[in-house]
Amino acid sequence: MTILFASDLDQTLIYSHRSMGPDVTPEELQVVEHLEGKPQSFMTRRGQKALWELEKSAVFVPVTTRTQEQYERVTGIYRDGQLPRFAVISNGAVILENGQPVRDWSDNIRKQCIDKKTVIEELMPEIKRHFSEEWVLRIRQADDWFVYLIVDREGFPVENLEYYTKVFREIGWGMSLQGRKLYFMPESITKAAAMEYVRDRMEAELVVAAGDSLLDLDLLESADLGFLAAHGEAVRSRSAISSHIQVTEQTGIKAGEEILAGVADISLQSK
Ligand SMILES: [Mg+2]
Repeated sequence: MTILFASDLDQTLIYSHRSMGPDVTPEELQVVEHLEGKPQSFMTRRGQKALWELEKSAVFVPVTTRTQEQYERVTGIYRDGQLPRFAVISNGAVILENGQPVRDWSDNIRKQCIDKKTVIEELMPEIKRHFSEEWVLRIRQADDWFVYLIVDREGFPVENLEYYTKVFREIGWGMSLQGRKLYFMPESITKAAAMEYVRDRMEAELVVAAGDSLLDLDLLESADLGFLAAHGEAVRSRSAISSHIQVTEQTGIKAGEEILAGVADISLQSK
């Protein structure tokens, strides 16, 4: 039986110093990503071991909003640098098969974005209209697919998020606030659709998914079983969550460990 473990990375399996929480000692940490020579993201040693052990009973598919360049920095999630057969990146706009983008997939997503006018050129004037405040530190474009703002969380008016979400949903863009990043995602770009492609290609019988943010909810909803990190945006937003999705008891980097232990249990029982 082929079991997929389709999981978000940041703040689900891997954590920065800022997001890992207080319940972990430096001795427990394993660096999984370096940025400009400095350690950037971590798992616990136990978490990394659990992920590597999982290879025996399930197929790990990273499903991340990171671009290819950002994703390729996270080398610590693979044993001996062995790339997974499939990885979903750019929130589902790109699927890597053996490290190479599946061209037809992305061409089709691009076409849907153009048809629905959810392209960056259409979005930028709207962003400039609503977000000229000083708490917008930077505006970033991710490989022409979507946009995120780096915001100063101190100044960011969280109480207006619901209003912004409604305004942008009407023109076809989903919003998600993760740490200092405020994402604008075309509705045609979803983690769930890309995961379904991988499910078909792998002829998988069971998909277990994990995530923390609003951009992960469609992935979790379309999986057979899901784990949602308790500290994340999705739980905080009090979105409706189906019964096949379990919220972790732990928060921070220990939630990552809890998810991996849960997935190991499921895959061993299902074998
Ligand atoms: Mg995440």
